[in-house]
Formats: sequence, C-alpha cells, structure tokens
Amino acid sequence: MNQQTQFYRDTWAEINLDHITYNVKSMKKHVGEDTEVFAVVKANAYGHGDIEVAKTALNAGATRLAVATLDEALALRKKGADAPILVLGYSRPENAGFAAANNISLTVFQADWLEKAKTFVKEELNIHVKFDSGMGRIGIRKHEEWTKLNEQLEQNQVFKLEGAFTHFATADEMETGYYEEQLQKFNEMIGWMKEKPKYIHASNSAAGLRFFQSHFNAVRYGISMYGLTPSPDIAAVLPFQLKEAFALHTKLVHVKKLNKGEKVSYGATYEAKEEEWIGTLPIGYADGWIRKLSTQEVLVNGERVPIVGRICMDQCMIKLPSELPVGTQVTLIGKQEQTEISVNEIAKTLETINYEVTCQVSNRVPRVYTKGGNETSVRNGLL
Ligand SMILES: *Cc1c(COP(=O)(O)O)cnc(C)c1O
Repeated sequence: MNQQTQFYRDTWAEINLDHITYNVKSMKKHVGEDTEVFAVVKANAYGHGDIEVAKTALNAGATRLAVATLDEALALRKKGADAPILVLGYSRPENAGFAAANNISLTVFQADWLEKAKTFVKEELNIHVKFDSGMGRIGIRKHEEWTKLNEQLEQNQVFKLEGAFTHFATADEMETGYYEEQLQKFNEMIGWMKEKPKYIHASNSAAGLRFFQSHFNAVRYGISMYGLTPSPDIAAVLPFQLKEAFALHTKLVHVKKLNKGEKVSYGATYEAKEEEWIGTLPIGYADGWIRKLSTQEVLVNGERVPIVGRICMDQCMIKLPSELPVGTQVTLIGKQEQTEISVNEIAKTLETINYEVTCQVSNRVPRVYTKGGNETSVRNGLL
C-alpha cells in the first residue's frame, strides 16, 4: 500500500462521500437542466480533501471545479483531476501562460492585468470577468473599467472570455434587500457586455438554494455540498435536507483514576472533585482542535462527556463516566448511537461559522473516505 493511503495515529476525520453525492444530486435536481453546478473545492475542499470531493462531485453531476488559488488548481491537476477548473481569486499575470497550459480558467478584473499577462500567454487562456456588485472585495465596479478591460480582450485573441460573475454578501440572511440590490446591479453590469460569455454565474450555496432569479446558467456550490447550512438563519427554509459529510474521531490512548484534588493539564486548572476516571485523547490544537474548545463535550459510548483542563498542542483530556479500555473510540464531530455533535455545534462553541470548523482541521489529521458504509480510501497529508 502507498504510504499516503495509510496512517499511524488514532485520530482521523471520516468523510462520507455518499452524502456529498446526495448533496450534489439534490442541488442539480433543484437548479434544473439549464443550470450547471460548479463544485467549490477550495481550501482542500473545506477540509474534506480536494481530489476525493472533486471526483465525487463530478460523478454526481457537477461539471466544473472552482478553487481560490492557482496552486490549489495545480494540486488538483497533479492528483489527476482533468475537468475544467476556475480560480476564483487573483492570480499573477506572470503565471497566466502556466494556467492556460493546464486548462485552468482565471478570474480577471483589471485591464492592466490583461496588458501584463498577454506576453506570457502562448495558448488560449479562458477568463471569467469578476464584477463587484456590492461585496467590496474584488471585481469591476464601474462601466469605464469594463470598457478598458474589454478593449484588451478585443485586441488580444489569446484571451477567451468564458464567463462573467459576481458574489453575494448577504445571500445567507433572511433580510433580502441587499441581495436584491446586488442582483439588480449585476444584471446592469452584464448589460454592459455586448456579447455574452458562455457562463454567467452569481450564486453561492445560499443563493443557489433560495433564489432562482440569480441562477443564470451556473451556481457555485460550496458549503452545502458538504451538507452544511450556509447560516443557521436559513436552515429552516432550505429546499432539501442536507447531509453532513464530515466526522472527527479519536481513541482513548490512556485511562487513569485521579483522587480528589489531583490536577489535569497546563496551568493545573482542572481539579478532580472526587475520584474520577480521566481519559487522554491524541488530538490537540495543532490538529485544529483549538484551546477554545475546552468547554466542548465529546461522545463516548453514545454519551456526552466533558473535556477537562486546557487543550494541549497534541493531546487533551476528558472525564469518563467509568473506567473504559484504552482504544475506546471517541467522537468529537459526528454520531454515536442516537447522540450527535454537529459541525454547527462546534461552530457555536467557537462563536464562529461552520465553514471555519472543517477548514481548521489540519493536514496532520488523515482523511478516511467511506462509501456504502465501507472505508474506500485514506489520504494522509503528511506522507
Ligand atoms: C467560496 C466561494 C463560493 C462558495 O460559497 P459557499 O457559501 O461555500 O457556497 C462561491 N463563490 C466564491 C467567489 C467563493 O469565494
């Protein structure tokens, strides 16, 4: 077996690829025949594993991949993805030829960029023009910016205008006023283009799930492909049930009895109130199980138990209901029997959004993939 397909520690993330398939198929059905689904697999597929998610999403009906950076696109090529890939963020004009040679489409929003890039491009480069309709991040805001950029496109046939897009700032909020303003602005911006490109796209998961009027002919499907709601606010208005793909497990590596008054971890902040069974878990903040999670519970034998003391870089401790054998599985995210700790619960404990939770589970944690309840492959980012 290839070393990348093995791991040697008792902590792993389990990714349910059937759930990703279901989430993509449900979205495809929701958007209909005339709208494509682009699978957003940036940030190592929100921590789930780029190539495994990419292949699963493409098999389930997604037509293209989208990432944030050229490096992420090249990483997918290196691992065997041959579908078209769009880089959603800024790339250097000096690297435009490299992107073209690898069939990677780039996002462009400055006329100067094209001016610089043209000397580096030998074969045709596909570009998607980004319009800033109100996100205030990247993109063309003024008509004259479009006019200048379009002049460059017309003068340089190596650039092929493949798409035009924008991004919504508030599609995951119940109040829709700002979303509607952005949509109106974007429609106006598309009106500046005499010839429409093949793809016009605006919707992230939230807009794709909620608003047909902003589907155009493709949606960029990120967070909900992983089975996560774009925000708690809109969980109640989703058109189909999402299935979470991410779980995080570990095993007890040490179990001991503490006497009343004995202490646990750095700072000796936790003190046993009576005779207590304490278990040690081989996961810590360097794995993304950060110190702020010291108040979070975990699952052992289907029961919730507390983390005790400070979380260390590589380990943390939990209070056990009774003496349990070393090797007992402990679930930090996911289900045990009837009990569940969702990604959303972790996000709540951390006072953040679910996006951040799966992204922050580090490369040191191997990803184990399952289909039909069976383990199908493993990716160990370290080996
Ligand atoms: C990340 C990203 C998406 C995906 O957003 P989700 O909310 O995860 O669906 C879509 N478009 C752009 C430009 C992005 O950066």
